[in-house]
Amino acid sequence: MNIVLLGPPGAGKGTQAKRLEERYGLIQLSTGDMLRAAVASGSEIGQRAKAIMEAGQLVPDEVVIALIADRIDRPDARKGFILDGFPRTTKQAEALDRMLAEKGIKLDHVIEMKVDDALLVDRISGRYTCAKCGAGYHDRNQKPRVEGVCDACGSTEVKRRADDNAETVSKRLEAYHAQTAPILPYYRAKGALQAVDGMAPIDDVTVALAGILNGAAPAARKAKAASRPKAKAKPRAAAKKSKPKAKAKTRRKAKAKPARTKRAAKSTRSRKPARKAAHKGRKPVRRSRR
Ligand SMILES: [Zn+2]
Repeated sequence: MNIVLLGPPGAGKGTQAKRLEERYGLIQLSTGDMLRAAVASGSEIGQRAKAIMEAGQLVPDEVVIALIADRIDRPDARKGFILDGFPRTTKQAEALDRMLAEKGIKLDHVIEMKVDDALLVDRISGRYTCAKCGAGYHDRNQKPRVEGVCDACGSTEVKRRADDNAETVSKRLEAYHAQTAPILPYYRAKGALQAVDGMAPIDDVTVALAGILNGAAPAARKAKAASRPKAKAKPRAAAKKSKPKAKAKTRRKAKAKPARTKRAAKSTRSRKPARKAAHKGRKPVRRSRR
């Protein structure tokens, strides 16, 4: 199973990738880690990357693609991979597709972790950790019981990441949207794009991701939806809409024929569960929303 996780920095891609890695035996491919490892190993491509980085230049796409190609050829990648933070541009997405096609590999899921920008800025910009034990806190959302004192160990020293301030986070988000937004239609057109609510609690996001991974492949899903056009666009809304409609119908019927015998009325009632069962077949895509 090969997965691409899309989402802005701070959406929790890394955390979720780690969980999927453990749960499904996949390997997480972080391009930053791969570059560092390649440089450290002194491999040919590592030396090339090192020279480029030392010159203060961005590592070209083909180098990153080559690193990914190398990595997924290794035996521990046989169950699949999770790409997190790559591709970032449509050009990279196309290059990735070409490389995978050459290997006869396809992406099974491209999942966007959707976020609310303003909420994300608030979430990230106030966070800090205890310098001693690493307990996580937040200026507004998760304060320690006594201000300035760690609940867990009593330490008064805190650590803040230099880039965890509102201005930097906003800039990162802007860059993400400007660069990565075009990837979404690219994958959507291929019928591969799915989304989860990245603002939901971490465990809920994991459940939503597992639902996608355990469910039908996007291609099969698409075919299924096509045969039931109503369920396609907004399965949740469609299910909601159809219920009151069914009820209204029953009510109208009851009004139209008020002179029914008790038995007839009973049979109307007994039809209800059958209707419900019909709705059951139209299982909406599970989505966590908050
Ligand atoms: Zn502490």
